[in-house]
Amino acid sequence: MSIANQCKFFGHVITVEKALAVRKATPGGNRNTLVFECIKCGQPVRPHLAGDRCAAHFVHLVRNPQCQFIEPAREY
Ligand SMILES: [Zn+2]
Repeated sequence: MSIANQCKFFGHVITVEKALAVRKATPGGNRNTLVFECIKCGQPVRPHLAGDRCAAHFVHLVRNPQCQFIEPAREY
């Protein structure tokens, strides 16, 4: 079990830092059209900024209990 720090984007594996940069470079209204996929289960994920307790990582848009990537406890 581990935290996801890579995802698939248009068939390429990219890091969460790269995904955050892509997201930042995309105009606000189009951000929801960016499709990042979990490299383990292929479900859509979104990049999450580093917080006090964890490094930057991906979270599934819909929680996937079958996926090998765990998701850190929510901070809010
Ligand atoms: Zn997954």
